[in-house]
Amino acid sequence: MAIANKKKPRRIVLKLSGEALMGKKEAGIDSKIIKDIASDVKALAKSNIQVGIVVGGGNFFRGAMLNGDGISRITGDHLGMIATMLNALAMQDIFTSLGIPTKTMSALPIDGIIERYDCRKANNYLVGGFVVIFAGGIGSPLVTTDTALCLRGIELGADLLLKATNVDGIYSKDPKKNRDAKLYRRLTYGQALAENLGVMDLSAFCLGRDHKMKLRVFNIRKKGALLRIIQGLDEGTLVE
Ligand code: UDP
Repeated sequence: MAIANKKKPRRIVLKLSGEALMGKKEAGIDSKIIKDIASDVKALAKSNIQVGIVVGGGNFFRGAMLNGDGISRITGDHLGMIATMLNALAMQDIFTSLGIPTKTMSALPIDGIIERYDCRKANNYLVGGFVVIFAGGIGSPLVTTDTALCLRGIELGADLLLKATNVDGIYSKDPKKNRDAKLYRRLTYGQALAENLGVMDLSAFCLGRDHKMKLRVFNIRKKGALLRIIQGLDEGTLVE
């Protein structure tokens, strides 16, 4: 699919949650979902859009959930960061098998398996036509990979940040629990912070606000949603 030049971003960073990779499974990875995502990413790469992907780990572990039962929050967060690496490695293989040149970098490297994140190197990979998967979040506990999305996007000068979820965007309340939850089409970072919308870490919202990043939250399960956003069409919630 060719993407019109008019509103096309040059570089995007996309955050894929572990939940998004799970499909209908209860945990782990559904390779069919990753293949579908790969096909969209391939279309972006063909249109010369540079793609970085921050991957979550919630399909295996989330520190805040593990906390208790003898596991400290910090150890839980360490497990969560390791979980992002499991997803990244699986994604890298599937992307590569589909002919997408892919590199994985992690804030917490694994010698011989995943190289350490380095902003300049990541920039060179993106310019060189690789999709770069960012694992390990920011490498520190007490935040989630949403903060990594904003941080990597800012460091790498992305034109657009995308947060893929399993709902249609940002709602006034949790839409799974509240039938009267309202879907926002546009939001300012100030509003998101004032209303304490729990859709991302507050640190992520603050980074996005302070660095004037454009962020779109959208439903990855909606076929073609990613490509529609790149074409400049209204999809999900725009935060700026
Ligand atoms: N995590 C962390 N530091 C980071 C990124 C992630 O400690 O910079 C931990 C945290 O416990 C988080 C878990 O890793 O809950 C998995 O990441 P996240 O919740 O973002 O995954 P997602 O919900 O997007 O799948």
